[in-house]
Amino acid sequence: MATAHTTPRTSGLPASLTPALLARLAARVTAAADAARVTANAPYTGTPLAALPVSTPADVEDAFTRARAAQATWAATPMGERKRIMLRFHDLVLARRDEALDLMQAENGKTRRDAFLEVTDIAITARYYARNAAGLLRPKRRRGAIPLLTRTTELRHPKGVVTVISPWNYPLSMAAGDAVPALMAGNAVVQKPDTQTALTALWALDLMHEAGLPTGVWQMVVGRGSSIGDQLMDNADYMMFTGSTASGRRIARDAGMRLIGASLELGGKNAMIVLDDADIEKAADGAVNACFPSAGQLCVSIERLYVAEAVRERFVAAFVERTKKLKIGAAYDYSIDVGSLTNQSQLDTVTAHVDDAVAKGATVLAGGRARPDLGPLFYEPTVLTDVTPDMTVYDHETFGPVVSVYPFRHVEEAIARANATPYGLNASVWSRDGARGRAVAARVHAGTVNVNEAFAAAWGSIDAPMGGMGDSGLGRRHGADGILKYTEPQTVAHQRIQGFYPPASVSPETWATLLTGALRILKAAGLR
Ligand code: NAP
Repeated sequence: MATAHTTPRTSGLPASLTPALLARLAARVTAAADAARVTANAPYTGTPLAALPVSTPADVEDAFTRARAAQATWAATPMGERKRIMLRFHDLVLARRDEALDLMQAENGKTRRDAFLEVTDIAITARYYARNAAGLLRPKRRRGAIPLLTRTTELRHPKGVVTVISPWNYPLSMAAGDAVPALMAGNAVVQKPDTQTALTALWALDLMHEAGLPTGVWQMVVGRGSSIGDQLMDNADYMMFTGSTASGRRIARDAGMRLIGASLELGGKNAMIVLDDADIEKAADGAVNACFPSAGQLCVSIERLYVAEAVRERFVAAFVERTKKLKIGAAYDYSIDVGSLTNQSQLDTVTAHVDDAVAKGATVLAGGRARPDLGPLFYEPTVLTDVTPDMTVYDHETFGPVVSVYPFRHVEEAIARANATPYGLNASVWSRDGARGRAVAARVHAGTVNVNEAFAAAWGSIDAPMGGMGDSGLGRRHGADGILKYTEPQTVAHQRIQGFYPPASVSPETWATLLTGALRILKAAGLR
């Protein structure tokens, strides 16, 4: 059995998470003064974090009423002022990053390196939409119905109040990353972060207020979906949901009944293809970065690895060696490679998937066991081979530090097997030949595909859309799509001098002949 390097168990919370800070964050929840309280446990130790007020359905209704009132003023706030607030938020996130890292580690159990990626992500997102929103949203002249006579303009209006429902796995990225473009587009936001990681989301809200966002424009409620989900849906003008495919289907159904738009960022079973001409050392490093960030609790992480038969032996040896050397543990510094799972349900799923595979004949090349000696929710980074279709791990999302390695003979077989899933979120292709890698990438059924990178190249390309095909979701975040979805397009067409109907002095028949001639001229002139 593989053993990984470990560090001693950490007890207690970092000093930056003072009672005063935690109380200030709790006070940011939209809830009644005498609200019931809920307390999440720190994954590293199982000990309680801060008590947060629980929002009732009435509190959520109240949040929407206030958001709707605040949104009208916010939408009228000049874009330059919105941009200044967002850039101040950017600076504050970087200046206070250690506080954010401590919070994310305490609530989610991830390593400091993984948490730092979220800080980077939010800085990039805030800067991008601060600097680009004006250009993306400004009124745009469109070709008119009749050249020279129709002046047509496309306007973009905010939807109104956007509901954002965000999960626990990337508590800062998922909480603030989707709110930033909604706010820049002039919307108000009512958000329900997952209770496990609500403090991090509230921290982002707190900083946005410090940056100058007016009261009421962005609000957070805390509670179970089963208790306040109806109010979050019934009052929304647009729904931004990130979570499992099963929950996404229910959200899509309810949004459909209300005829509101929804963006759904859902699950995946992401594939990596190592072609026969790949740089094996780099691909092995890449596979470690692809499979184990945030203990595999990353929607774009890799769970299926297809390796060309010609390089399989060398690649597997290099990958397994690196995996066994990973340092697992709990520490509020940069010394650790793999952190804890976040909740018992994740640990149960990971354990069940690996145990089922092993019972049915899979071989464990690294990891394969929980590590209660490190903390209640640790599981070793695990590499499996000899995985067959009857095993759950073959085609079900594990959302943990578990990857299955499969050999392939021909590139066509690799593409077909990578695509043999209802999901289509992210993929990765490795080749020394960039053009070959990109050609294979274009044939993989996934919303983002990285060549010679795991996920960060596509995710970090904030100017390009990111999201899932098939069961991995609907809609996109990032780029123009990531902000335009939060707007209602409106076409204003101003007809001058002459319209489509004939003037009184021209008979309808003559008019038809004239228009037919005009249409022929437009085509001959090469107009689109
Ligand atoms: P989940 O069960 O769907 O829950 C996600 C969050 O949504 C929870 O906070 C949950 O709150 C809330 N929620 C679910 N249904 C709701 C409803 N009808 N109304 C209001 N809130 C509702 O997902 P999970 O298992 O916790 O999260 C992991 C999944 O998220 C994985 O499948 C992962 O791939 C996916 N994910 C996707 C992306 C992406 O960008 N594509 C990113 C991150 C994660 P309650 O628990 O309180 O109900």
